[in-house]
Amino acid sequence: MSSVIKQTKVSARSFSYSVSFCALLFLFLAAFSLLSARDLGPLFFVKLLWSLVIAAFGFAIIRSGVISGYRSALFILIAFLFFLEFKFFRWLSIANTIPPYCHIAQAPTLFNFLHSQFLAFTSGDWKIWGVLTLGFLWLLIMFTIGQGICSWVCFYGGMDEFFSKVLNKPVIRLNIPKKGRDFPLAFLIFLLIISFLQGSPIFCSWFCPLKLTCAFWDHEPTIRMAQAVLFYLILFGFVILLPVLSKKRTFCSMICPFGALVSICGKVSPYQVKIDQEKCIHCGKCFDVCPVFAVERKDPQEYRISSYCNKCGACIDVCPVDAIPLSAWDSLTGWRLQIRDIFLFLSLLMTGVLSSSFVARVVLQLLGVK
Ligand code: SF4
Ligand code: SF4
Repeated sequence: MSSVIKQTKVSARSFSYSVSFCALLFLFLAAFSLLSARDLGPLFFVKLLWSLVIAAFGFAIIRSGVISGYRSALFILIAFLFFLEFKFFRWLSIANTIPPYCHIAQAPTLFNFLHSQFLAFTSGDWKIWGVLTLGFLWLLIMFTIGQGICSWVCFYGGMDEFFSKVLNKPVIRLNIPKKGRDFPLAFLIFLLIISFLQGSPIFCSWFCPLKLTCAFWDHEPTIRMAQAVLFYLILFGFVILLPVLSKKRTFCSMICPFGALVSICGKVSPYQVKIDQEKCIHCGKCFDVCPVFAVERKDPQEYRISSYCNKCGACIDVCPVDAIPLSAWDSLTGWRLQIRDIFLFLSLLMTGVLSSSFVARVVLQLLGVK
């Protein structure tokens, strides 16, 4: 509570500033809603309503100065609606949902994508350039909000986050040594090579804990059984059980190959979360609260944030001496500017744009509008 009060003093913006922030965000999202809905039908109005919801979350974050609580609520809500749209409705056969473009699958099949794009480029077959365009979309996100994608936009990450919020206190204290935290990177490299050699997305057929975007492709019963065992182990172990018990996002931080990819690409993102060593009083709260093991304890007197930080804001909110700014340009110019509002604006904008497609569909289906 005291940290919330302190944040209210340090980071809260005035009412008029917060309204302007929220109005600008709404205007951008409304313009996108019009562009994507193409006419002023029900789809447009639902998208407009969703834009208003995102803008309201933006207002709450900016006005209160507290990032993580509101971000988390929005993140979980989006994951829930995503699950409803792509899994639940399919089970009930209410709708023929369009499979989402899965960014987790894209990471370990990057070589396959590059190869197919090379073939498209050299053969003049432009029909599959759509895939490349979507690839550019993810790259654009990575180079703007960087690893922030994993705590703001990723509709799978919200499920991990939900289970990590079930209990108030952790039942087990999980800590991963630095080498263990690098496992997703090693896993990504393995998947990149094997997927390219096999010419198929190995992560999807063997490791995807949700199977939201693909079914079992292999017909051999023993192989299908082995895949199902892995699928259930990862789902119940890393997406549900460990997050509930440890309050950490264990699938995101211990397995996800997309998280590993963005931790590399995110190094060139201008936005960085760093500890000001001059201000830090070594209380360790950031270390305890970080859901993805991105705060490293070098020794009892030194905490550092690694490239696995996905800018969830939890440590920023909890730090009692405001020693963790969300700043920019440090790596490029040596200057550190606190431009957290720009980062927050971009994150909410991207969240709104990417979620509006399935959120609008789910609302229309619930209302029975075709
Ligand atoms: S270091 Fe801070 S902002 Fe980054 S993921 Fe951990 S808690 Fe979130
Ligand atoms: S929460 Fe703040 S004061 Fe405490 S160790 Fe982290 S950066 Fe230092």
